Amino acid sequence: MLMSPQNLPERINAVLGQVRQAVATAGRSAQSVTVLAIGKAQPPQTLADAARCGLSHFGESYLQEALGKQAALRELPLTWHFVGRVQANKTRVIAEQFAWVHTVERLKIAERLAAQRPFHAPPLNICLQVNLAAEATKGGVAVAELPALAAAVAQLPRLQLRGLMCIPPEEAEPGRQRAWFAQLRVLRDELNAGGLSLDTLSMGMSADFEAAIMEGSTIVRLGTALFGARP
Ligand SMILES: *Cc1c(COP(=O)(O)O)cnc(C)c1O
Repeated sequence: MLMSPQNLPERINAVLGQVRQAVATAGRSAQSVTVLAIGKAQPPQTLADAARCGLSHFGESYLQEALGKQAALRELPLTWHFVGRVQANKTRVIAEQFAWVHTVERLKIAERLAAQRPFHAPPLNICLQVNLAAEATKGGVAVAELPALAAAVAQLPRLQLRGLMCIPPEEAEPGRQRAWFAQLRVLRDELNAGGLSLDTLSMGMSADFEAAIMEGSTIVRLGTALFGARP
């Protein structure tokens, strides 16, 4: 479906209403969940229109595309999140241009981001991506290796380890969706019991954000729900 500019606000407001409803159903406070608008494949003007609907956190997966949009939208007070695979030779630009990185899966990448984060900038917010189902096609640290990675990343300067992120297998049934998200929540709670203080669960996309909110998601990453099918 092609998104006409006229129905974008309607669509965004409907989704924000669904998020508010899920948060209320979960008995959680309205401020406890941030909607991260995933703008990959969408033009800068669409993101500007979304910002006018009240969205201020934007996530991008492809660095070159993201840099172009950041330049086009630099007058807007937006917070940029990187949610794509982090290549080692791209860490400097990511450390300079983003406030958050959701997809750290190796210590080497975290070390580079720490070394390359500008000193005048606030700490770079980091989530560790966890490959819950050990899927070969997906990134993320293996569950068994998560505690060591988290402990090491938490020690790095210029970074703030905020929490965990996942892209679980697609499940049609809400109960099965929730089971994956519950696993990530338990992993976060175990790390906190071990002495970390992680406040973020980046989980839930267009097809499963309601289940993620029920299990404690603090950031839902929404693309097609907000913007329609990617062009
Ligand atoms: C594309 C993408 C999303 C958004 O996906 P939708 O299903 O369109 O909501 C969320 N997270 C990541 C990491 C993505 O790459």
